[in-house]
Amino acid sequence: MWRASVITIFPEMFPGPLGASLAGKARDKGFWALDPVDLRDHALDRHRTVDDTPAGGGPGMVMKADVLARAIDTVAGEGDLRPRILLSPAGVPLTQARVRALASGPGLIAICGRFEGVDERAIAARGLEEISIGDYVLSGGELAAMVLIDACVRLIPGVMGKAESAAEESFAHGLLEYPHYTRPQIWEDHAIPEVLLSGDHGKVAAWRQEQAESRTRARRPDLWARYLAVLGRKATEG
Ligand code: SAH
Repeated sequence: MWRASVITIFPEMFPGPLGASLAGKARDKGFWALDPVDLRDHALDRHRTVDDTPAGGGPGMVMKADVLARAIDTVAGEGDLRPRILLSPAGVPLTQARVRALASGPGLIAICGRFEGVDERAIAARGLEEISIGDYVLSGGELAAMVLIDACVRLIPGVMGKAESAAEESFAHGLLEYPHYTRPQIWEDHAIPEVLLSGDHGKVAAWRQEQAESRTRARRPDLWARYLAVLGRKATEG
């Protein structure tokens, strides 16, 4: 079973939103398991200290390497092949490709930072993969871990109703998804685009492709440039 262990000083935040809706139902059905681990349980002193002041001075606190490493070593026993992921604004931006790879593996171990961050030596010594969920700063890694786990869980085979809904959605082919419409046919004087009511599947597919391309070009020039580069490469490879 796909298994997510989450090392955090706020285990009570979990499952939170991961216990509801698609992810929650999938967990109830045994498609995946969630194991929140209280970092403080791995502190050795009476006060269960997990942080200390930054070397070199400056504001805030830093999560201690020894406590974090002890927690990781306990959670990841021998033979545990799950990637160890530190949620961090300084990490590699999360992509759907990374999510797909993680979803097809055994699960993950997520480490949630708090305060100013984590002692760099623990990151190196335990081979942590640093992942960012975007160019903004959260107050802790817990919400980021939930984002990561939610994105993975919905791709576990059998979790989503229709296999094709994952095949078509945004990023699946390097483009944003086309726009969606449903009844009523006329709403506040706005009609559903006629082609969608034509019953001509070829025309509908062509229209959706064109929409996906034009919105990607307009909204995400970065994705568009990458898409064109991949198309170009495919063309020259024949
Ligand atoms: N001083 C740090 C920010 C610490 S925020 C810096 O400037 O880089 C506290 C914790 O929140 C981080 O350790 C990390 O675990 C989490 N976090 C904040 N923003 C994040 C983001 N964009 N993606 C993933 N995790 C994030």
